[in-house]
Amino acid sequence: MSRRRRIYEGKAKVLYEGPEPGLLVQYFKDDATAFNNEKKGVIEGKGVLNNRISEYLMTRLAEIGVPTHFVRRLNMREQLIREVEIVPVEVVIRNVAAGSISKRLGIAEGTPLPRSIVEYYYKNDELGDPMISEEHITAFGWAGPQEIDDMLSISLRVNDFLNGLFVSVGIRLVDFKLEFGRLWHGEEMRIVLADEISPDSCRLWDMNSDEKLDKDRFRRDLGDVAEAYQEVARRLGIMPEANVKEFRPVGASGPTDIGGPTSPAKPVDSPGKVS
Ligand code: UDP
Repeated sequence: MSRRRRIYEGKAKVLYEGPEPGLLVQYFKDDATAFNNEKKGVIEGKGVLNNRISEYLMTRLAEIGVPTHFVRRLNMREQLIREVEIVPVEVVIRNVAAGSISKRLGIAEGTPLPRSIVEYYYKNDELGDPMISEEHITAFGWAGPQEIDDMLSISLRVNDFLNGLFVSVGIRLVDFKLEFGRLWHGEEMRIVLADEISPDSCRLWDMNSDEKLDKDRFRRDLGDVAEAYQEVARRLGIMPEANVKEFRPVGASGPTDIGGPTSPAKPVDSPGKVS
């Protein structure tokens, strides 16, 4: 098995050179971090579940015309994606108060918001991803006005669609974070959805019990983290008989050879460039 060139390693995922230029392999780890890296852990089976959940959600979104970086899933922990230039802005969409908005504005967790609220954060670990406004984004050149428009309209569409999808399986989409990338076709560029959509990046509450089915189980030491992610997958109709414990050893040591040219990919000079 030939080892593919590793292009970037993030907190929960690794990016490897793909089978041809313009494609990358996104590998999902079991590692979890929270509170700007202060809390670290391993959630057995998380990578497998997030790979499947993100595949499912990105595919459903592509079906309704949302542009994404996703190409196809390769195996238990890897998916093929298009190489994009990541916009260093995280877009958070909120439907119900929780997490940082509850703290910042003193709104009790679980309070429905008067309407969906969109927030922007500067993607910068050293600074702890500070909240920013459109003014900062355009003034510092992180994205142009048209790109912000595109990110906003895609985010609202994703919110509408995912809200309905999750409600249909008894889950409330409390909030979530999206990342976007620039995809180039010759001279033309378009903004596409990148990174992942999974219980790592969404708050998902059971509609009857308000039980948390997302990364807050890890952040708040609630236990049964993988089981909660598995429940999300089960409700979405993915891996119905899956057993979290079975997932761990698969592909745990690195990516598999998926064929294609062996020439080294160009190194990526900053983590901000790839998801
Ligand atoms: N989120 C994320 N990555 C981040 C920050 C937030 O995926 O670096 C997600 C988080 O899981 C939640 C939403 O964005 O679904 C809003 O997060 P919030 O601002 O409340 O921050 P938190 O309380 O999670 O630190």
